[in-house]
This record gives sequence, structure tokens and C-alpha cells, in this order.
Amino acid sequence: MFDISKLQVKPGDKVKLNRIDPQETIGWDGERDEAEARTLQLNTRLEALQELLYAEGKHRVLLVLQAMDAGGKDGTIRHVLDGVNPAGVKVASFKKPSALELAHDYLWRIHARTPANGEMVVFNRSHYEDVLVVRVMDLAPKAVWSKRYDHIRNFEQLLVDEGTTIVKIMLHIDKDEQKERLQARLDEPEKNWKFDPGDLAHRERWQDYMDAFEDALNETSTKNAPWYVVPANRKWYRNMAISEILVQTLDGLNMEFPPAPPNIASTIIPD
Ligand code: AMP
Ligand code: MG
Repeated sequence: MFDISKLQVKPGDKVKLNRIDPQETIGWDGERDEAEARTLQLNTRLEALQELLYAEGKHRVLLVLQAMDAGGKDGTIRHVLDGVNPAGVKVASFKKPSALELAHDYLWRIHARTPANGEMVVFNRSHYEDVLVVRVMDLAPKAVWSKRYDHIRNFEQLLVDEGTTIVKIMLHIDKDEQKERLQARLDEPEKNWKFDPGDLAHRERWQDYMDAFEDALNETSTKNAPWYVVPANRKWYRNMAISEILVQTLDGLNMEFPPAPPNIASTIIPD
């Protein structure tokens, strides 16, 4: 059994990102092809669990993905959620806030996209941008962003109290891996559209981002809304580890199909 707790930031821990090797395959000493076979099995399991989530209609599931640019958020969504029923799964991508969004508090646009009963929502970026890019690029003063860890803990607790299961994942790549992936966006014509020259300004502040990530992880990993740091240089490991985290979390909900309507055995469908 793959032990996902090895990837979890325990409440009270002080995670140090430079001590987690993005190249590693924590909890896995098998080969790549074995991991890929396992991911396929997990994917089948995930499809069944998501069907159950939808059918039962009681739980709400929120998966938060955060990473540096080219960290693999889009690829994770494509691979891990491959084949799940799109009727019950939504992806919410958070970009630079619009004028309307900026005219509200930073959680306004976030709350509006949280999952309803029976739904799974994946956040591709999230409210954590408001303590990451906002902090590193000086988009708000420290007096403003430093209060947000508290808000975020409370906001997430509100969601949990009202029936949401929250899982937060940081895809952890290193600076060399980012360089390779950004370079590929320049070199491969079908990837050119993904290249954002603005990403280079963020890359320059790599260490500041790591510091901001560490604070976010340490301040907001709670029992009910835990963070996982997934080494993500190797995509096959990343896909397997995240599939495991999702499957084990959904398994833990002990969901059941709703009871059948009465008299189902004796009901005859008329010609
Ligand atoms: P992408 O996910 O590659 O499409 O890029 C989205 C961009 O929006 C990234 O550069 C993010 O840092 C930026 N972004 C997301 N949320 C915020 C926010 N709350 N404030 C400022 N920039 C943000
Ligand atoms: Mg981008």
C-alpha cells in the first residue's frame, strides 16, 4: 500500500522544501512501468468512487492544485481525471483577478466555485495565489497578505464544517526542471501557445516563491484540510501519487449508493 501520509505536511510541522527532492519517488521503489500500470488501476477506481460521490450526493470534494509555472497542474488534471464523468467534476482555473473580482475580497471568487453536494471540483490555482504571487510580486503590502493565513484556515474550516472534503497538493518541481519545460514551450510549435513571457519574472524570484510556499504550507496544513507536497519532476510518479491521494481520500468517506426506490423487484416496465 502506498503510504500517502509520507507526503502530507503534518499540522505543526515546519516543512523545508529544499529538503524534499523533486526527483524522488517517495513511498515507491518500483519501476516506471509498474507505476503506470498502478495509475491505470487507480483511475478505474477513481471513476467508480466519483460515480458513487455523484450518486450519493452528500459529500463535496475540493482538490486544490498549486505549483510554479510549468509545474504540471494541467497535465495532472488531464491524466488523473481521465475518464471520470464530466457531469460530476468541474475544474476552476484562477487567473489574474478581473476588475470586478478585485473590487471584492479575495475569497469572493473562490467561494463561488466551491463544490456542491455530489460534486468534485479541482482548483487549478486558488486562493493560495493571494499569499504566493501577491506576496512575492508585491501586489499587496505585508500588512494585508499576512492576515490571510488566518482567513484561509477559517474559510477552509467553514467549508469542512458544511460537508466539504478538502485536499491540497503542491506539485514540487525544481528550477532545472522548470527550465526544461519552459524551453520545450519555445522549441515545440504545438506548445508555443503555453509560453508566457511573464513566467520569466516569476522564475527570477524562485527562492522568494519557495519561502512563500513554505509559509503557506506550514500555516495552513490542518487535520481537515491537509497539504501534500508531491515530488513532481517525474510525471509518472506525480500521476500515481496524486491518484493515490484522491482514491484514498474518497475511500475514507465510506460512501454508499442511495437506497433503491421501493418495490423495485416487483416493478414491471410496461410495453
Ligand atoms: P496560468 O495558470 O498559467 O494561466 O496563469 C495564470 C496567472 O494568473 C499566473 O501568473 C498567476 O500567478 C496569476 N494569478 C492567479 N491568481 C492571482 C491573484 N489572486 N493575483 C494575481 N495574480 C494571480
Ligand atoms: Mg502559465
